[in-house]
Amino acid sequence: MISTIKENAQKILRELPEGVELVAAAKQRKPEEIMEAIEAGIKIVGQNYIGEARTLYKTIGKRAKWHFIGISKTVKHDLLRRNVLQMFDMIETIDSEGIASELDGRCAQINKIMPILIEINSGREPQKSGVMPDNVEELLARISSLQNIKVMGLMTMGPRFGDPEESRPYFIETRKIFDNIKTCNLFNAEMKYLSMGMTNSYKIAIEEGANMVRIGTKLFGERK
Ligand SMILES: *Cc1c(COP(=O)(O)O)cnc(C)c1O
Repeated sequence: MISTIKENAQKILRELPEGVELVAAAKQRKPEEIMEAIEAGIKIVGQNYIGEARTLYKTIGKRAKWHFIGISKTVKHDLLRRNVLQMFDMIETIDSEGIASELDGRCAQINKIMPILIEINSGREPQKSGVMPDNVEELLARISSLQNIKVMGLMTMGPRFGDPEESRPYFIETRKIFDNIKTCNLFNAEMKYLSMGMTNSYKIAIEEGANMVRIGTKLFGERK
């Protein structure tokens, strides 16, 4: 028998250690599916695409918090270009000074201070998004004077593997960066959230210090 979204959500929430926040990764899901998750206790919805986010926001509105988790360059620019920043409570995937300062400017226009996470390319894969581990501190220094964004932590995807155990070193590396920045007490950068782990890897991510996990498939079922 196939379990319902409600059952999945309740099970995941019951099993998550205290202090770990669940982001429902909701790409390609219908409003009623997301409402079912919210009714079961999901508080944060993650959105990759602006069009989908707009549609969902119309029906769901402030019944959840909205995190932008889009990783492609195009979609990040889409986020800035279109008038949607008002709906988001956090942008998890900032990975360059350019994007950060553009976001800052847009947020200034709408009088908003946007919490952000820095996306780390923990696999050091040149074709992928995220700032390289060695460049994180420099990026933080460069964006520290921006008044309308507030760095709240780090996010990573990590390389994709069949065996989630292979993700562990990338989570460990990201955690090290997180702890390191924490001890530096940088201006305008609070290391509160460490967002890593998805359906196949979140348990390992939590063992390695994640306090925010982004889960889609295990909650909503396989995507088409
Ligand atoms: C889709 C997505 C997830 C969740 O993936 P699942 O494997 O379905 O749990 C997490 N993070 C990001 C950025 C995603 O796009």
